[in-house]
Amino acid sequence: MHPPSTPDRSATALAPVLHDVRAVVFDTDGVITDSARVHAAAWKVAFDGFLRAHPPEDPGQRRPFDERDDYLRHVDGKSRLDGAAAFLAGRGIEASDQTVRSVAEDKERLFTRRLREDGVDAYPGTVRLVKALRAAGVPRAAASASRHAGELLSRAGVLDLFDALVDGGEAARLGLAGKPEPDLFLEAVSRLGVPAGRAAVVEDALAGVEAGRRGGFALVVGVDRAAGADTGARLLRHGADIVVHDLGELCAGGAPT
Ligand SMILES: [Mg+2]
Repeated sequence: MHPPSTPDRSATALAPVLHDVRAVVFDTDGVITDSARVHAAAWKVAFDGFLRAHPPEDPGQRRPFDERDDYLRHVDGKSRLDGAAAFLAGRGIEASDQTVRSVAEDKERLFTRRLREDGVDAYPGTVRLVKALRAAGVPRAAASASRHAGELLSRAGVLDLFDALVDGGEAARLGLAGKPEPDLFLEAVSRLGVPAGRAAVVEDALAGVEAGRRGGFALVVGVDRAAGADTGARLLRHGADIVVHDLGELCAGGAPT
């Protein structure tokens, strides 16, 4: 069979940095859907409840969970259990597996309830980029440590824009290591039939851009939703090649004003 010819991407609606990219893997929470805020809010209720019930000995460690800094530093992009363990350890709490599980289950309950009550949206800039990639013949995958990823994409009405989805359920079934290990992204890009060295990863988490770098992806795009004053610099330090505020910036002509 004659292979499809490579489209001339300079004539597409993609920014030049994407012209040599043959596939793109998108993180889900905070990159495709605005669900990172729902996760952060659920974590806050779960962690603050725990800190009130079990205050750390060091009074300096009793401050409430910060939805920007603590979220980005400890839980963003990680599995629920890894995130709960990382935050508690960060506050000097030697938590048993049972305690970690219990806090993670609280968060899960709160997240599911909020999701059903508030819903979730896809970022318009991301939708624009994903459609431009589709028009240019570049396959797209969604990847997430969350078991909710499919439901999130479906609720936001964008599931059918992706050729593959690797979610937390798949990761567990296949025994994939969590971020910052690159397993999730490598699985996703292999389903698109493209080597990582010819593909891009788009991530908003520090652990996520690090996973992209470790996976040997040709391009790691960090998305800084202005979570903190120096988020962009931290994304670059952890492995992002470029940082954007909105993925519409990667369409030719940049983001709408
Ligand atoms: Mg994310």
